[in-house]
Amino acid sequence: MLKNDQLDAWDRAYFLHPSTHLAQHARGESPNRIVAGGSGVFIEDRDGNRLLDAFAGLYCVNVGYGRTEIAEAIAAQARELAYYHAYVGHGTEASITLAKMVLERAPKTMSKVYFGLGGSDANETNIKLVWYYNNILGRPRKKKIISRWRGYHGSGLMTGSLTGLELFHRKFDLPFDTVLHTLAPDYFRRADLALSEAEFVALCAAELEALIEREGADTVAAFIGEPVLGTGGIVPPPAGYWAAIQPILKKHDILFIADEVVTGFGRLGSMFGSAHYDLEPDFITIAKGLTSAYAPLSGSIVSERVWKVLERGTDETGPIGHGWTYSAHPIGAAAGVANLELIDRLGLVRNAAETGAYLRKAVVEALGRHPNVGDIRGEGMLCAVEFVETRDGRRFFDPARKIGPQVAAALLRRGVIGRAMPQGDILGFAPPLCLSRAEAERIAEATADAVAEVLGNG
Ligand code: PLP
Repeated sequence: MLKNDQLDAWDRAYFLHPSTHLAQHARGESPNRIVAGGSGVFIEDRDGNRLLDAFAGLYCVNVGYGRTEIAEAIAAQARELAYYHAYVGHGTEASITLAKMVLERAPKTMSKVYFGLGGSDANETNIKLVWYYNNILGRPRKKKIISRWRGYHGSGLMTGSLTGLELFHRKFDLPFDTVLHTLAPDYFRRADLALSEAEFVALCAAELEALIEREGADTVAAFIGEPVLGTGGIVPPPAGYWAAIQPILKKHDILFIADEVVTGFGRLGSMFGSAHYDLEPDFITIAKGLTSAYAPLSGSIVSERVWKVLERGTDETGPIGHGWTYSAHPIGAAAGVANLELIDRLGLVRNAAETGAYLRKAVVEALGRHPNVGDIRGEGMLCAVEFVETRDGRRFFDPARKIGPQVAAALLRRGVIGRAMPQGDILGFAPPLCLSRAEAERIAEATADAVAEVLGNG
């Protein structure tokens, strides 16, 4: 086995990491971690630390680490047939079975699933299919996509444009001008503190409608949104938000893409966020929980309404010019089948609802009275704590003080991984769906200790 110091040197010398301060990393100024193993909700690193991963990697290891059922399914698939493509009607037992399993769990209006590799490429597929759809329908001007500020939809060219977080645009010449952003449904961060929740929802709806009318509905093709804002701060929608937004989309014949990369397969305590919030999407983006990240796999689920137009398109113009070498990769598909079976067998969707609620209650009990805790929120197995300088008048900290990252670092010293969300002093939790009550209590206690270290006891 290589010694850590050698791996550390190679890491600094050769590895261009995603979402990392590259210069500090290369100079050895920022910590790295070499992860060696995992079991249940814990990971272990090569220095012998055992950490409770209360973010499930990147909210993706839904079944928890070390599930041999999935490892064995992957190994069996690799032995039998490691790869074949899915072009021109090819498939494998695993990819075909997984397609059926996905559709059995999706809302009834959905029709087919296209498999990709990750959430970003699945959203790229969605946008291409939206454009194709409108071209086939003879509406070549109807191409703009509306996303929300604080939304996260990936970091490709189009998907980075859809993402409504400045970090993902800066110096990348993004967003593209076919992408428009509208108000984030973040009631806690509303500009006008006097607004009631219902008034704020009405404002979100009015802004969306005004944007559509300003641009012209004949130029707006689709709206994309996560059922619960994820990377933008783990923010469940204010009551009535989706019920206010969906009729506007219908009225203007705008397709709805529900980005369920985080919420799909149980995280909200429902199989899909679309069912949880009564959404009627035309596309559903899936990734992470599809395989619990045991292998890279994503999907674009299309509705029957969209499917009919895609069929018509290929009748008119021939095979669809879209696909990746690794679309529906058999190893990813085998992991997906084993993963979805495990989610059912272990009752993880229900546990996400029950233990997730228990986690939030424990965090509220541990921190709810702290003067720098402005908001504690979540849904299912998602929870966030937002810090403020003062609760009265809701004044935020100067971002330069990096309160969120400091709390996350203090939490890590206590053996628990939470995530300092990229915009705002927000500590996020998205543990594996198999979290136990005892583990939830440990997260809450460690968070309270970490907050006391950084901000005092109030
Ligand atoms: N959509 C959502 C809602 C996500 O949270 C993410 C990733 O966190 C993506 C898309 C992009 O997925 P990936 O990182 O697999 O490309």
